Amino acid sequence: MSKTAQSVWENCLEFIKDNIQPQAYKTWFEPIVAVKYADNALSIQVPSKFFYEWLEEHYVKILKVALTKQLGENAKLVYIIKMENTYGNKQPFTEKIPSTNRSAVKAQDVDIPLNNKSPELKNPFIIPGIRNVKIESQLNPSYNFENFLEGDSNRLARSAGLAVAAKPGGTSFNPLLIFGGVGLGKTHLAHAIGVDVKDKYPEKTVLYISAEKFTQQYIDSVKKNNRNDFIHFYQIIDVLIIDDVQFLSGKSGTQDVFFHIFNHLHQNGKQVILTSDKAPVDMQDIEQRLLSRFKWGLSAELQSPDFETRVSILKNKLYRDGVEMPDEIIEYVAKHIKSNIRELEGAIISLIAQSSFNKKEITTELAKQVVEKFVKNTKREVSIDYIQKIVSDYFQMDIDTLQSKTRKRHIVQARQLAMFFAKKFTKASLASIGSQIGKRDHATVLHACKTVDNLSSTDKQFRKYVEDLTKKLSV
Ligand code: ADP
Ligand code: MG
Repeated sequence: MSKTAQSVWENCLEFIKDNIQPQAYKTWFEPIVAVKYADNALSIQVPSKFFYEWLEEHYVKILKVALTKQLGENAKLVYIIKMENTYGNKQPFTEKIPSTNRSAVKAQDVDIPLNNKSPELKNPFIIPGIRNVKIESQLNPSYNFENFLEGDSNRLARSAGLAVAAKPGGTSFNPLLIFGGVGLGKTHLAHAIGVDVKDKYPEKTVLYISAEKFTQQYIDSVKKNNRNDFIHFYQIIDVLIIDDVQFLSGKSGTQDVFFHIFNHLHQNGKQVILTSDKAPVDMQDIEQRLLSRFKWGLSAELQSPDFETRVSILKNKLYRDGVEMPDEIIEYVAKHIKSNIRELEGAIISLIAQSSFNKKEITTELAKQVVEKFVKNTKREVSIDYIQKIVSDYFQMDIDTLQSKTRKRHIVQARQLAMFFAKKFTKASLASIGSQIGKRDHATVLHACKTVDNLSSTDKQFRKYVEDLTKKLSV
């Protein structure tokens, strides 16, 4: 009986199936297609470079045994990486890699299908190399513990962060959830933990990613049909940091995939660090099972810094920037800008800029002007009326039309966008948004927010509306 690629491979599979976990078999062997058998070499086609590396890393022994059984000692295995034509206008390409002669493989940068197109985010980016899968951490080294000043407002979160960095996955703070309002240091602290882990354990794989980018990658992976690669990529990380998880609200697909990744990491003693603008109890539209996972570890709050902490943060910043400033001015700024650290830094930066551009001495008078401007500027919150005006202008309709009972598609969409932005840019409740935008109830508003989320990830034109309006409402 003459051997064909299919028959050889089927026999191999039978052996492999008996020797590994069913789930692993399903994930890693079912997608393989045997394409050629000649000169004692079997060529198998795998869906991605990552897939190939994974097989070589985890299953090369069993593959060898299975193949030797079929073809004898001189058996050869050749991988063919078939990539879909998913990146811009590149041609689909096929790459042959002889398994037995790995040194012949040139190390080249290969976009694995997950590669994100935005230039500032290289991840998930895998540098080819068999036992040496490297992942760019996306950490910002200037956000470290040294310049994360301690105060009453952040002591718990900061010490928990230090504990986690000393023993990632080895404390009961898993996940560590850092929560608090804008500009209070969540992103800074999250990076600091990652930077510290990298310092102490250079071999550990750390990844920082915003929930927004995570979601985008997931959506892309679904579109490109490589959801499995996406999941496997995240499952090999030792310390996963996801910033602003409140962004996952209402995105049930992404929540679901995150749930699975989370469980896998947690079970394997890997560390998960999350940040959020709210405590788990206050999170809306996040699945219960995910919320209950968030509560497994520690939720640590970052509160508004007290006066002393604000002063020391300012002094530290000035010191690092090599700028001198009289104490009374620092205290003046710290006294008047209370709500968040980003504003505090912003005010001091514009104070320095003012004085150096205008060659003015930094006086209390100047500080007063700057602070006043700052407080006024940042206090401005857009109103629901303003949002309705911007949205109806954009679609060239009047506000009455936007609020009317009609079911005409473009009017319904305009109204849903107004509701969506009201939810996003104001603190008004769903009920109050509904009553102000054409006397609807809270369920209608919730539905509108979900529809806008969905449409903006599936409909290009619609996404453009959202982007344009976001710009108009943010200036
Ligand atoms: P959030 O992510 O909570 O919105 P960020 O982490 O972006 O806030 O912090 C805002 C700014 O305040 C950053 O420039 C950060 O470096 C600074 N900052 C926050 N907390 C501290 C701190 N404890 N010490 C020094 N700087 C801080
Ligand atoms: Mg942040």
